[in-house]
This record gives sequence, structure tokens and C-alpha cells, in this order.
Amino acid sequence: MRAGPAQLEAVRRALEGQVALKADPGTLAVYGHDESDTIDAPPELVAFPENTAQVQAVFRACVANRVPYTPVGARSGKSGGSISLEGGVAVSLEKMTAIRSISPEDLTAVVEPGVITGDFMKAVEAKGLFYPPDPNSLAMCTLGGNIAENAGGPRALKYGVTRDYVLGLEWVLPSGEVVRVGRQTIKGVAGYDLTGLFVGSEGTLGVATEITLQLVPLPRKVMTALAIFKDVHQAARAVSAVLAQGLVPRALELLDEVSVRAVDGKGFTFPAGTGSAVIAEVDGALEEALVAELSQMDEVFRTQGALEVLLAQDDGQREKLWAVRRGVSTALRAMKKHKISEDVCVPRSRIPEAIARYKALGAELGLTVATYGHAGDGNLHANILYEGPHERPRVDQALERMMRLTVELGGTITGEHGVGYAKRSFLAFEQSPGLIALQRQLKAAIDPLGLMNPGKIFP
Ligand SMILES: Cc1cc2nc3c(=O)[nH]c(=O)nc-3n(C[C@H](O)[C@H](O)[C@H](O)COP(=O)(O)OP(=O)(O)OC[C@H]3O[C@@H](n4cnc5c(N)ncnc54)[C@H](O)[C@@H]3O)c2cc1C
Repeated sequence: MRAGPAQLEAVRRALEGQVALKADPGTLAVYGHDESDTIDAPPELVAFPENTAQVQAVFRACVANRVPYTPVGARSGKSGGSISLEGGVAVSLEKMTAIRSISPEDLTAVVEPGVITGDFMKAVEAKGLFYPPDPNSLAMCTLGGNIAENAGGPRALKYGVTRDYVLGLEWVLPSGEVVRVGRQTIKGVAGYDLTGLFVGSEGTLGVATEITLQLVPLPRKVMTALAIFKDVHQAARAVSAVLAQGLVPRALELLDEVSVRAVDGKGFTFPAGTGSAVIAEVDGALEEALVAELSQMDEVFRTQGALEVLLAQDDGQREKLWAVRRGVSTALRAMKKHKISEDVCVPRSRIPEAIARYKALGAELGLTVATYGHAGDGNLHANILYEGPHERPRVDQALERMMRLTVELGGTITGEHGVGYAKRSFLAFEQSPGLIALQRQLKAAIDPLGLMNPGKIFP
């Protein structure tokens, strides 16, 4: 239900002089899309609150005038979560960028939602502390967006995802009311775990205006290796074999042949004959322990057919390897006009089978499927690359079959990007009607008018 011009004008008037607003066509166009490549749907007004009271004012003005409103972080999302599907007001949290405190004694930090994840990591590392969740978009995404999507990253294999590090939240409900959920302490079980519910709520149940995060001590040593394989099937089996040995690297990232081709020569040149690669990273307190762990992994990789295993010799070389990994998404995008990036997740034991079957699916439909990602935790970015609308029916067929196949393998349609707009039609493949209905009831209890981020998650 889109609002009419009079309703929007009433919101604008209510907020004028109180909250920064923009409605020029250039700004509206920018806020009309994210990194999901799904839809362009510009809002009709963008609000830039700078504190909790201003967020409340925006929500209250929207509710009073029955205008839809959608929270926005840095728009790096890959499921269309920040897109204003029904127009109305985009509520950007990007001006709320304060790191309020970092406590080495309590191993906690308190931040505002617009802090860029990578900036926060650097700030805590400067104090000898560590914030492990590391989405590959860390140079641009916000902590608020990470909370909303329960973002993960390469280190999730050992350290878990965003939810594992959120202790408490100041949360503005869709009505504009503020609640504090969770705690400042390490333990605490009073009441329902609303922090757990709000983390991952994809901007549909309210917004985080203050976040208390758990930190851990910064590991003293980190070592990174690159294993080169002839093809992706060998690499996938090697990932499973490493895990089956009981080894827990902090990251185990896989690149298939299309991904290798996309990034080869851009800051790093792969050895001739590379058909697939695995980046393995270990961390801990003692160098000898890490060397022992890596040499065990080296042996497993070679048994599985690795052509070479290269060890980064210093931080510069480590960073080069990670720059390659972080560049995959952008490099693939440059290969064809369109790219749809899925983030399916399967049980670890099914990783080799999943990769083989996604590839076979692409081949059957004549589409390029690039698979890369956090293979160690079963979270694979299966990307479909295509040139134009004439291929779209086949792409849609491939997507649907990929989702059904993932669920059949015991997996989930989204390991970290969220359902948002992009995957709402697939949710019913994974969840029963009763479960979807229960979630709709929760949404209705917290946002009875359904004005916050309408059209997301549910089919
Ligand atoms: C190159 C690239 C690599 C990526 N790699 C990863 C990865 O490794 N792991 C991963 O998990 N994701 C990854 N992503 C996806 C994306 O970066 C994450 O989903 C990220 O958490 C989105 O943050 P954002 O600030 O850009 O939020 P946006 O995209 O602006 O918004 C995402 C959702 O958050 C909501 N929202 C924003 N701020 C708040 C708030 N303060 N309170 C409540 N809701 C809010 C919005 O309504 C929306 O639903 C990648 C994206 C790109 C482009």
C-alpha cells in the first residue's frame, strides 16, 4: 500500500527542521537498489537521523500518516532488504557512526549502527582485541546491517556469526517506542531472548540504534595458505577431508574455475594449471601449534590431489590472498552483464555433492555458474552469470531448482544474506506453512500496521 502525495507531504512537514531529509531524484535513485541486482524501487523521501530521538520521530511521523518506511545501512545487502518496495521513507542509519566505548576489561564494545564494520575491527584491534565476524563487504557494510542480516564471513567456521557477538541492543520498535533488550554482561537469561529474535530480523521488526558487542582477545599469530587444485571437485573433497580430520581452521574458502579466472592477474597470479583454489587460515597463541596444524592440512590437501600448497610469508602476502578472495564478487560481476549471487548453505558432508550438482544444473541449462565462498561451513556462493533478459527464464528455472536441491540436501536457502525480497518466493521450500504463519503473527504483533519494510521475507 503506497502512500499518496498528501501523506508524504505530511511526513515531510512533521520532520522538517528536526531530521535531515533528501528527495532529489539523484538521491532517491541511489537508495532504490542494493547489491542484490534484483529490483530498482526508489523511496520517495530519504531521512538521515543522527540519534535515537530522531529515529523515533521518523517512525512516529510515518505511523501517524500511514506511510511505509524502510531502514537502510550501506546498501551492500544481497537480498534486497533495504529496498523500499512500496516507496515511502528510506531511513538511513549511516550518520550514526560513533564507537561509544571499547572495554578491554569487560571485552565489550558499544557502538552506533552506522559504524562501518571494517573500521570497527581496526579500532578494536588497535586495543589488542578482536571482533571476529568478517563479511567480505567489511570495507563498506555497517554493523547495523550486519545485525539485521546476522552476517557471517570466512571466520564463521571457527568463531561463529554476528548473533554470537551481540550482547544487547537499544532497539526502536516500529511504533517509535524504544526498548533495551539483552544485557551488558557475558551471561544473562532473563526473559525471552529478544536479542536473538531482533538479530536477523532483516529490518522488519525495528532498528538497532545502539549495539553492545562481545569481543575476544586478538589471536597472537595468524597463518594463511593457498592450496591449488586441478578442479573444483578435488578442492571440495579436500575441504570435507580437512574437517573430517577434526582440524578447525578459522577460514576455509573455496574458489572454482570461473572465480579463479575472474580474479587471476588482478593483484595475484595463480600458478599455471589452477582449476580451483582453497584459502586456509589458522590462528592462535603459539606459532609452533599453527605450523603443526598447517602441515597436517598440507598433507590432507596433497592426498586429495593438490598441485601445490603455498604459504603466505608475511602479513602483506596474507592480505594479498584475502584481497583476491574479497575481489571475487566484483570480478565475476565484470564478466557478464548480470550476476545473481546465492548464498545457499548445506551440511558439511554434502559440500562436494552440492558443488557438483549446481555445476551440472548450470551446464544442463546452458548457464555459467560460478561457485565460491565459505566452503568450510557449507555456505556456498553459487553465482549465475548471464547477459540479458532473453536468458532470464532459464536463470529463474536454475534458481528455483538450485533452492529445491539445496533443501533436498538438508541445507538452507540462505546462509547469511537473508531472505529479503530476493528469496521470499523460496521460503516455503524450506519452512512449513505453520512456521511461516507463526512468523507472520510475530511480525503483526510488533508491527501491527505492517508499515515497516513491507513486502520482505514472507512469500
Ligand atoms: C562484495 C560483497 C561481499 C559480501 N560478503 C558478505 C559476507 O561475507 N557475509 C555476509 O553475511 N554478507 C555479505 N555481503 C552482504 C552484505 O554486505 C551484508 O548483508 C551486510 O550485513 C549488509 O549491511 P549494510 O550495512 O550494507 O545493510 P543494507 O544492505 O543497507 O541493509 C540490509 C538490511 O538491514 C536492515 N538494516 C540496516 N540497518 C539497520 C539497523 N540499524 N537496524 C535494523 N535493521 C537495519 C535493512 O532494512 C535491510 O533489511 C556481501 C556483499 C557484498 C556486496
